[in-house]
Amino acid sequence: MLAEAEHVVVLTGAGISTESGIPDFRSTGGLWGKFDPMEVASMSTFLHEPERFWGFHRPRIDMLAGADPNAAHKAVAQLQRRGVVKQLITQNIDRLHARAGSEDAIEVHGSLDSGCCIRCGHEVDIDELVAMADAADDGVPRCPPCGFQMKSGVILFGESLPAEAIDRAFEAAEEADAMLVVGSSLQVAPVSRLPGTVLRRGGMLAILTEGPTPYDDEAHVRLNGKAGKQLTEALAELEALL
Ligand code: NAD
Repeated sequence: MLAEAEHVVVLTGAGISTESGIPDFRSTGGLWGKFDPMEVASMSTFLHEPERFWGFHRPRIDMLAGADPNAAHKAVAQLQRRGVVKQLITQNIDRLHARAGSEDAIEVHGSLDSGCCIRCGHEVDIDELVAMADAADDGVPRCPPCGFQMKSGVILFGESLPAEAIDRAFEAAEEADAMLVVGSSLQVAPVSRLPGTVLRRGGMLAILTEGPTPYDDEAHVRLNGKAGKQLTEALAELEALL
């Protein structure tokens, strides 16, 4: 499918990063087995209980920073370099695609590369945000100009998604004649509608994800293995064909 398609778009989710040691949301032992996302990663907790919010967030930043791209991230970057994949869309905030060499990924759920004040718009880079959190008695980084608690560039539950990124993602899906989904349960809207956009326009859909998705019956290719192994194998077969 990858060899024949002319405009492949890859959509990734938390499952592509589990082999880097970052838990996903919905697998057994996933992040949300231990925490209620609506509590810890919500706009409401950020606004009303910033200490609890940062108590969860701060160690998570270290955990993400300590992870390295795995074979699946590297295979996606290689597919882009070979011109097979025209656009990468990710729901992940971990920056592992960029570190694997992927350029211009559309990050539909934000990313952990910056901090901002939602009251006055002041922006800092992630290192500064972390230093501010570590220097604060209560662990909450506060905006230097206005004093309000700061958040990272990760989009929270209850927060609007970045409109430009979402628009770009749907434009990419409209142009795609094939979409490859890697490591996503496709449960989170509006990203969950991207594969449907491709299918409606007559495109092909491949899903490489261990767990079930709502598109399993419609997918032209359905793989249930580990993303690192299966993408590496697909890449090797493809390189032999190209
Ligand atoms: P999800 O947890 O809902 O689904 C992940 C899917 O990947 C599951 O079906 C799981 O079975 C599968 N999977 C796990 N390991 C796999 C592997 N090695 N190979 C193949 N499949 C594997 O994830 P989602 O659909 O991305 O959920 C959406 C939300 O999760 C997004 O908002 C995203 O921002 C957030 N999230 C991101 C990270 C990250 O940045 N790494 C981590 C946790 C959650």
